Amino acid sequence: MTNLKLDVIGDPIGHSKSPLIHETVLESIGIPHEYRKVRVEKGSLKAYIDEVKMLGISGFNLTIPHKTDIIPYLDYIDDEARIFNSVNTVKVENGKLWGYNTDGRGFLRAMEGKGFFADKKNVVLIGAGGVASCIALKMILEGASSLTIINRSKAPAEAISENVFKHTGKKIRVLPFSKESFCLAACDCDILINSTPLGMQGTEKDFEDLTFLEGLKPSALVYDLIYNPSETKLLSTAKSLGINALNGLGMLIYQGLLADEIFLGRSLDFEYLGAKIESKFKKLNFF
Ligand code: NAP
Repeated sequence: MTNLKLDVIGDPIGHSKSPLIHETVLESIGIPHEYRKVRVEKGSLKAYIDEVKMLGISGFNLTIPHKTDIIPYLDYIDDEARIFNSVNTVKVENGKLWGYNTDGRGFLRAMEGKGFFADKKNVVLIGAGGVASCIALKMILEGASSLTIINRSKAPAEAISENVFKHTGKKIRVLPFSKESFCLAACDCDILINSTPLGMQGTEKDFEDLTFLEGLKPSALVYDLIYNPSETKLLSTAKSLGINALNGLGMLIYQGLLADEIFLGRSLDFEYLGAKIESKFKKLNFF
């Protein structure tokens, strides 16, 4: 059997956990493979794509700063990636590039796996970066009753709001990053998501005031997309108040497994492979 040749590209790329996820999956199901981490600088996608075709690469994952820049180079883009304006998985078939986004589905699958569903829920999203823009649309498409974005800068939050309206006709609320906003948004919130790096290992900054969590109902979910540390101050405080807490590890694993399903063109056993990936992370003391 010939090797499946896959890459992850980004800049920086050294920190990427993608090789570990995909190698664990491919080893577990017996697919011979090579999985490279390739540093591709912003503006260098054309040269990388030429290399992909020359080397016979079967597919690649993308991280910052290429998720939107790749779009003009694709021969096909799936609906979700198109409306998210973000691609994290490219499959190469007969020299053609097929672009997908598995972040939204990975995010949702992890949440649903814990018994939480977006339908008819009031959602509060902290942050308005690349991932937030996918999640905002995903939550509305999944039937959320309302969505509030709280962000430090107004412009990116307004841009997400416009994109959500363009694709769904739904209006969302944008609030500034202030104690008053958090308290206001918490009172009828069912699902609160952190998509900022606040509390992430290697980032000095964290939430300064978490008293707004006291305003959440006990049935609410606090979902922090951070997976390192496995329990941020946001999550430990929510837990201490008896509120449900979920970190970003499930999303990380599921977006990878969904990408592997695209590369392989077949469905995978998420429970079995997800556990394999998690135990590999633990063995290597990643968190
Ligand atoms: P991004 O595009 O850089 O966006 C970062 C967001 O955080 C922006 O809205 C930014 O606000 C806000 N922010 C940054 N520093 C802040 C601070 N000190 N105070 C308040 N807000 C701040 O990042 P991204 O790609 O969306 O990723 C966001 C986070 O999601 C990452 O940090 C990572 O932990 C997590 N993530 C998890 C997964 C997973 O699989 N679990 C996948 C991807 C990302 P401004 O607009 O004001 O700059």
